[in-house]
Amino acid sequence: MTILSSIAIRCQCEHVFNFGLPESITTWLYPDMVQTLVDGGYYQTACPNCSVPIIVNSEIMVNTPKGIIMVPTGPPEKLKDILHRLEIVDDTGTPFSSEEISERLEYNMEHLDENPLLKKQQEMQKLLGDPNKFLEKFKNKKKEKKKKKRFGLF
Ligand SMILES: [Zn+2]
Repeated sequence: MTILSSIAIRCQCEHVFNFGLPESITTWLYPDMVQTLVDGGYYQTACPNCSVPIIVNSEIMVNTPKGIIMVPTGPPEKLKDILHRLEIVDDTGTPFSSEEISERLEYNMEHLDENPLLKKQQEMQKLLGDPNKFLEKFKNKKKEKKKKKRFGLF
């Protein structure tokens, strides 16, 4: 599911309006949203009152074959390199298909050592996936700290 976040924008004409943009994009599920991101559609709007063009500076959490990254909304030419490195678009800035992105993700999951960010996030997810394990680790850390403190006193 895609959650839209709403940003209140005040125009130079004093008109205030809401601009909706996705909080996150899962690139292999929503090719249309990738296309809008690539086209700069989450970056520019116009005031509904006076029609003046408005630039929106924000960021969107993008779930990519390389991991989850906060991508700034910005002009397409600036985004192209970022999105290319994240394996969402080819070197001309054309988005890969859902299937291609899925394949890239699968490949990267099988080669986690070459994808440190993805590896880290996978490990984190595993940890968060089992709340008991997470709690246990947390408690152990606290115990260790207490021990150290006690030793420190002598
Ligand atoms: Zn206006």
